[in-house]
Amino acid sequence: PQPVVAVVGRPNVGKSTLVNRILGRREAVVQDVPGVTRDRVAYDALWNGRRFTVVDTGGWEPDARGLQAEVAAQAELAMSTADVVLLVVDATVGATTTDEAVARVLRRSNRPVLLIANKVDDERLMADVAALWSLGLGEPYPVSGLHGRGSGDLLDAVLKAL
Ligand code: GDP
Ligand code: MG
Repeated sequence: PQPVVAVVGRPNVGKSTLVNRILGRREAVVQDVPGVTRDRVAYDALWNGRRFTVVDTGGWEPDARGLQAEVAAQAELAMSTADVVLLVVDATVGATTTDEAVARVLRRSNRPVLLIANKVDDERLMADVAALWSLGLGEPYPVSGLHGRGSGDLLDAVLKAL
C-alpha cells in the first residue's frame, strides 16, 4: 500500500484547494482506503515519481460537540491512519484557538506533522507566516493553494517526511 498524507484543519482554510493543487488536476480517483468515510476522501497523487495517497478531511460540519472538538477528532483520526499529517492554517487569519487545539493534539503524534501556512498569495504575508511558529509545530511552510506558490517546496518536504 502506498503512503498516506492526511490534510487537516479548520473549515475554509483551503484544504481542498491545496489537495487539488497537490493532485495537479480537478477530478480525482476516489480510493478504497481504511478509515475513509464520506467525510474523508482519498486521492492518488504523484510527485517526483513517487506515489502517495492524499486524504482530504473536508466536507464535515461542526456537530453538537462544537468545531474545536470536531477538528481535534479529525486530527486524532488523521494521526492514526496517515504517515504524514499536514495541518493547514489560514495565514491571513493567523492562529485561532481551534488551530491551537489541533496543534496541541498533533504535537503528541509520533507521525511527522507539517504546518502549512495557506493563502500566502504574496510576500507581504511572510510576517504573518513567521507568527505561526507559535503553534509549536516547527517551521511553517508558506503556500498559496489557489495560485500554486510554494507547493513544489511543500511536496518536496512531504516526500522527505514519508
Ligand atoms: P477547506 O474548507 O479547508 O477545504 O477550504 P477550501 O479549499 O474549500 O477553500 C475555502 C476558500 O478559501 C475558497 O473560497 C478558496 O478559494 C479560498 N482559498 C483557498 N486557498 C486559497 C489561497 O491560497 N489563497 C486565497 N486567497 N484564497 C484561497
Ligand atoms: Mg474542503
